[in-house]
Amino acid sequence: MISIFKYRPVKVPYGDCMGVPRFWRHISSRYNLIGTRCTTCGEYYFPPRTMCPKCRRDGVIEDYQFSGHGEVVTYTIIHTAAEGFDKETPYPLAVIQLNEGPRMTGQVICDPEDIVIGMRVKPVFRKLGEDGEDGIIYYGTKFTPA
Ligand SMILES: [Zn+2]
Repeated sequence: MISIFKYRPVKVPYGDCMGVPRFWRHISSRYNLIGTRCTTCGEYYFPPRTMCPKCRRDGVIEDYQFSGHGEVVTYTIIHTAAEGFDKETPYPLAVIQLNEGPRMTGQVICDPEDIVIGMRVKPVFRKLGEDGEDGIIYYGTKFTPA
């Protein structure tokens, strides 16, 4: 099972990042699609891994910037969303297989009637959510039809 929760950006206390533009506060692998690649066997990993499960100690791991282009493997239409997302319902939440192989979950910005399995998608940088009290805004990658 894939959990969407493990991709949540890390919260940074406001006071720790004064003077930094708001959208740089929550950099994470989810935000910039940084994963890893094993140069020994050529396998790609997202989220990033520190060890290649195929090559074990022989694997040489390096950071890899995914393009975010891929296709819809499966999807569901969200009708009852978590707090903060309720204004956007209904919306498609899909498992996207990136061109390099790894799969990730993400919101697809399109009419729920239009999404189909196998549809090509490209990444877009969008607001993911907002904390009501302190106004912290989360940004990350969503997808649109390519
Ligand atoms: Zn490997």
